[in-house]
Amino acid sequence: VPDSSTSAQPVARSQGLFDRANGVTPGGVNSPVRAFHSVGGTPRFMVRGAGAYLWDADDNRYVDLVSSWGPMILGHAHPAVVDAVRTSAAAGLSFGTPTEGEILLAEEIIHRVDPVEQVRLVNSGTEATMSAIRLARGVTGRNKIVKFAGCYHGHVDALLAAAGSGLATLGISSTPGVSDVQTADTIVLPYNDLSALRAVFAEHGRDIACVITEAAAGNMGAVAPLPGFNAELRTLCHASGALLIMDEVMTGFRVSSAGWYGLEGVAGDLYTFGKVMSGGLPAAAFGGRADVMAALAPVGPVYQAGTLSGNPVAVAAGLATLRTADASVYARLDANARRLGDLFADALTGAGVPHQIGYAGNLVSIFFSESPVTDFAGAQAAETWRFPAFFRSLLAAGVYAPPSAFEAFFVSAALDDAAFDIIAAALPAAATAAA
Ligand code: PLP
Repeated sequence: VPDSSTSAQPVARSQGLFDRANGVTPGGVNSPVRAFHSVGGTPRFMVRGAGAYLWDADDNRYVDLVSSWGPMILGHAHPAVVDAVRTSAAAGLSFGTPTEGEILLAEEIIHRVDPVEQVRLVNSGTEATMSAIRLARGVTGRNKIVKFAGCYHGHVDALLAAAGSGLATLGISSTPGVSDVQTADTIVLPYNDLSALRAVFAEHGRDIACVITEAAAGNMGAVAPLPGFNAELRTLCHASGALLIMDEVMTGFRVSSAGWYGLEGVAGDLYTFGKVMSGGLPAAAFGGRADVMAALAPVGPVYQAGTLSGNPVAVAAGLATLRTADASVYARLDANARRLGDLFADALTGAGVPHQIGYAGNLVSIFFSESPVTDFAGAQAAETWRFPAFFRSLLAAGVYAPPSAFEAFFVSAALDDAAFDIIAAALPAAATAAA
């Protein structure tokens, strides 16, 4: 369906590309949310990014509030990152041997996140969480895993599970293609609900290999853990011999130089990282306690591998990003997140739209709700029907928001006064559209 709400903005080239893309790939996209299914309109085919902006195939310019779903904390085409990638690429794209860059990137991660003593590089966040769970099962000799509804950890079979009907029932598959056998050992609990967690540990504690949680949730909108939630998680895990996996794929090296760990200081046994740590190229990592990591092949018996793992060009992009992200970058990310959230609140208040601005560090989201959201049920109960019109109005005014009511806004340090002027000018109409 071509855009009708954005007729002032040319979309013919994006629409033409989308039509062709639909012929060769399902839904025309290589990851579902890019298809604008929940917001309507023509997905924009981007051709270029610089700093805070993206340009599409029709040469429309957008202030980018998605940042490639997190990685681009420095903005697009940052010279330090592009130079590092260029230099690395010119020296060869992949060797299938160890390289020094992999050590340097591991050292950067370990230096920042204290509980991480060793890391293994992989290619995506999905691979990182899949491998961390395998490792936790291998080390503990247990099969059950616990996850929280609304937390997303990639498209790992065992994690594509929805809660069963009773509190302590095991997960059921949430997608065709994943059998109930693959999710039979997955327990799905409400986020931020310590009594549910205690009940499950009381019943299944001896069989639980690990709990995996987003260190702070960003995939049901931004929902921070309530005070004490992560700490109690850790206590319960340790009391029963289970491992705690902190998924920092989204928060890692974004909400602080040490991720959510840097803000809260609750140590997990294993961590997963992606997004920022590879600066926009495909690399990710899992890591943690050295004694646990020692169970991985070739040292230990738990198998894990990857042809392109530790790819030198991706490693160079990640290293350059982490090294460029000094304290001033994190200060700007935090300030930009608050500035964005305040602008949202002002505009929505002005239009009389019920809302809560959710924060998890510098992840920001809007819940069209009268009451604060602390779990997925709360996020689902919000008036998400308001979001598509809000999104399309922003898009038409040159602001690229995440095309889903359940995704967080990802600011970059490149957002400056000029970019905020565009956002501020766009918001009143968007808020009215949401009313
Ligand atoms: N974990 C979290 C918290 C994520 O937000 C994501 C992706 O958004 C993943 C894991 C999966 O990462 P990837 O998309 O690189 O497989």
